[in-house]
This record gives sequence, C-alpha cells and structure tokens, in this order.
Amino acid sequence: MPRDLQEIMEIKQEIRDRLSQKLSKREMNEALRDHHARRRPRPCGLTIHTGIGCPLRCTYCYIYDMGFGITVKPYPLKPEQLVYALVSNPYFIPGHDGTLIALGSVTEPFLPQTKELTIGYIDAISTYLGNPIQFSTKMYMDKRNARRIADLDPGISPLITIITIKHRSKLEPYAPSPELRFKTIENLAEAGLKPILFYRPIIPGIADKEHVDILMKAKHAGAIGVVAGGLRITENILRRLHEKGIPIDEIVRRSLQPIRGRKQVPIKTSDIKKNIMKTATSLGMKYFLQACMANIYTHGAYCFRMVKEHIVSEPYRLPAPSEIRDILGEAGLELLDTRIAGYTLIVYARGVCSKTKKFLLEELIKYKYRICVSIKLEKTCFTLI
Ligand code: SF4
Repeated sequence: MPRDLQEIMEIKQEIRDRLSQKLSKREMNEALRDHHARRRPRPCGLTIHTGIGCPLRCTYCYIYDMGFGITVKPYPLKPEQLVYALVSNPYFIPGHDGTLIALGSVTEPFLPQTKELTIGYIDAISTYLGNPIQFSTKMYMDKRNARRIADLDPGISPLITIITIKHRSKLEPYAPSPELRFKTIENLAEAGLKPILFYRPIIPGIADKEHVDILMKAKHAGAIGVVAGGLRITENILRRLHEKGIPIDEIVRRSLQPIRGRKQVPIKTSDIKKNIMKTATSLGMKYFLQACMANIYTHGAYCFRMVKEHIVSEPYRLPAPSEIRDILGEAGLELLDTRIAGYTLIVYARGVCSKTKKFLLEELIKYKYRICVSIKLEKTCFTLI
C-alpha cells in the first residue's frame, strides 16, 4: 500500500518508465489523450471500457441513449497503453489497496470481438498494478477461460447478470440463455473464484416474481452472493419495453422523476431489493449493498460499512486522528477534527490544495482504511489542475 502522496507519484512514474520501454511515442500519446487518463473514479471505483458499442441490445439498456451503437469495436488501447493511461490519471492509486477497477459498464466485456482484449487488460492490470478487478458479464464462460482469468487474478470479482428466466427473449434476446449463465457461475466457482449473482436492473413486476427462483439456481450453481441494482429508464427504454409486451404501468408509477427524452430516470426498487436481500440471507448468500463491496470481499478484504451492516463479522478499527493528521500533513493541510456521519468519515482540515489533490487524499484515506471519506476544507480549494 502506498503510504503517502509522494510514494504514489513515485510508483506511478516507475510504472510509466517501465512501459515507455514497451510503447512507442505515438502509443504513449494516444494513451495520454484517452479518457482513462483523465476520468475521476466513481465511488465504486474506475470503470474501464473494453469495447465501444454492444450488439446484445438488451431492451432495458441505456447505452444506446448515451450515443453507443449496436455493433462493437474493441477498445482502441492495447493493454500496456491502458495501464499507461491509468498511471497517468491524476486520481488513480495503483496497487492491491488502490483504486477499484470495474470492467463492463458500457458494453459487455466478453463478446467474441472483445474477449481477448478484456483478458489482456486483466493480465496487464494484474502484472503492472495489482489493483482489485471486477467484471460483469452475460456471456458464457467455459472452464478454460474461467481458469485463465483465475490464474491472472485469483481474487477477481465476477458478477454474472441474471435478472429473468421467463422474459429473457423479450428483455435480452441476443444474450446467452440464463441456463448458460448459471453454467458460467459453475465454471468460475470450479476455477476457485467467488462468482456473484448480479441482479441488475431490477424490473418491477418481474423481479418480484422471479427472484427467489433465480437466487436458488445461482446458489446451487456456486454463487456466493448477490449484488442487486436498480433500473434507470429513458423514453426510448420505456417504449421498447412496451413494444415487447412488458407491463410498464408499475415502472411508470415508481419513476422518481418524469420520464422524458434520453435522461436516465431512476425507478424506485428499494422494497424489491429488501426482498432480494431477505431471500439471499435465508439461502446463506452474502448480500452486497454495492458492487464495490463485492470487489473488496473477493479480494480478501472488507470495509467499515460491511462491518456495520453485518455483511462480514470482522473487527474494524477506525483510523486514529494522528494517522489522518500525518496523511494530511504530507499535503500541507492541518487536521482540525474528524467525525463519522452515517458510513462516511468526515475530515475537517485547514489549508490550501488543488481539487485534484483533495480528491486523491480522500481516495488514499478511503482505500487505506476502507471507509468512505469526505474532506471538508476550511478554505476554498484552488482548482490548480
Ligand atoms: S449486454 Fe450490457 S451493455 Fe450490452 S446491451 Fe445488454 S445491458 Fe447493454
């Protein structure tokens, strides 16, 4: 684990130096211009694009409203370039206790056209960085590929999406059948991994009726837990669902904002999530409230919230003020106070720093002590970078 900001910079520079022996000037410049070199991680980590577009055309998918197409091209960066982009990203922390990585947010990472690139990305990230990796997929993964992935990152967090069996031809007409996905779970478990059922998106009117059956089958196949996630709707998605004969009244009734145009509107699913959690618990499966928890867990760790929510029964020690003071001191900030609000450590500090550095400090404390962090600065930050 990098101890401070200086050490993070040195490790990133070292990796850039190693990669500059393997990449041409042009390849390095391409990596530097890529959004992976700039994007701020989300609370659940940094999403990595393995392709552009997706041919699976799931009826509920929002990527087409974001401008992605129905064909896929492998992402233009080769694996070493992707790592070069990551270590050039000012918000990225390398290492086993660094930024969480998620593959497969705006495409399916194991399509025939992108599978080898995705495995190449996993290989390069494991070789140069060691950051915890998670992927979500609907594709069938055979035993050989499950073993390949397990050899590259034995802690990798596989999320296998299954949200319906009955309505799959209406909702996921081009994706492999749920039966094949249960088989994927089996193959991943046999390879020594900890597969997790990804119940996302929860579709009201469907999930309520099918989730018990799906969880039981996933458990039987070897899934150790569940991550459930809500549904976001646009006008196009609503129209497609209606055209496929999926009842939309309940979805509209639960929408938290008016559904207009391409704006993704969240649909209330908290009550259904609760039922999924109850079922998971009764089956002896872990219920992870967020995907990042599953990523941390399969890599042998846990966070403050997982302890508080009884997802794990392990001891947790909050960082002492002196530890936070030392970290802030490196960045020229003075610690004023700390307190816990919900599941977040609030750090009150005084001093001047860039927004980038403040974010990096939050990330550093978050990953070091496994707790969400918010730094409140007495003085307004300068946006230097
Ligand atoms: S597989 Fe994923 S990215 Fe592709 S269409 Fe389905 S939901 Fe969208």
